[in-house]
Amino acid sequence: MYIRFWGVRGSIATPLTNAALTAKIQKAVQLGLKAGLADESQIPEFVRNLPWHIRQTAGGDTACVEIQAGSNLLILDAGTGIRRLGLHLLRKYRGNPVDAHILLTHTHWDHINGIPFFVPGFNPNNKLILYGPSPGLESRIKGQQAPEYFPVPLTPAFRFVQLNEGAHFRIGNVKVETMRLNHPGGSHAYRITHDNKALVYATDSEYTDLSANALRPFTNFFHDADLLIYDAQFMPLENFEKENWGHSNAFTGIDMAIEAGVKKLVFTHHDPAYDDRKLCDILQKANEYLDIYEPDTELRLYLASEGLSMTI
Ligand SMILES: [Zn+2]
Ligand SMILES: [Zn+2]
Repeated sequence: MYIRFWGVRGSIATPLTNAALTAKIQKAVQLGLKAGLADESQIPEFVRNLPWHIRQTAGGDTACVEIQAGSNLLILDAGTGIRRLGLHLLRKYRGNPVDAHILLTHTHWDHINGIPFFVPGFNPNNKLILYGPSPGLESRIKGQQAPEYFPVPLTPAFRFVQLNEGAHFRIGNVKVETMRLNHPGGSHAYRITHDNKALVYATDSEYTDLSANALRPFTNFFHDADLLIYDAQFMPLENFEKENWGHSNAFTGIDMAIEAGVKKLVFTHHDPAYDDRKLCDILQKANEYLDIYEPDTELRLYLASEGLSMTI
């Protein structure tokens, strides 16, 4: 299974500011002076070795992950990141029909508001199926493009599959399982299995009772996943301050991933208030936590960023 992240921000799209870009350039130039760069040919390697938060950005688009499982194209959530995925698909398919299965965790804006800008949706020959357990899925999505909110209605390229809570089904030879998460208005995790590899996408979820018993239904759903994509919007202290906002943190994610025997854990749904430096710090602290409490684990941690891709 091939996985690529197109939108990793939670709540609202958060473009890099001019001030943040300038600060990155200033820091890079400072480090270049310190390193004694004397020739243009040294620049590419110097840039490659800069700290991640200086040379890159997590990105500002909201939730969207592309999955290629054999010949099946699945898309997890349709936040603003799906706009650029749509352009990529047009280039990749070169006029051939796009057949995509779009799995929605829920209908909060940061998970659906890229749909009107998903260019394959403009061509009725494309087959775009939207799935989700949110009650009244079709009217919610069509309502987003009512004339009060958007100039053109949803196109006939989109079809709907209303899922029941806890639904299990197949898309070709891909097995899809769902589970309700704890989130205001409800959110749903997806477990996707193909060719003996399993991915779990569990975003927009809060775990208030951290006892093993209370977490067991979730760790059972995550069990032995090769990849867990996890809502780590907050730091633990914020989880106390923002109780019932419906989000989790990296450290709870690590505890659950270890309990479940997960192999790779990706933190996503980054808070709009967190800059790249802060996200780097969170990953570093998460790795320190893992080293202290589970030094022998094979679990590996990653920070979701636009363009991050992996194969499991
Ligand atoms: Zn969200
Ligand atoms: Zn939400």
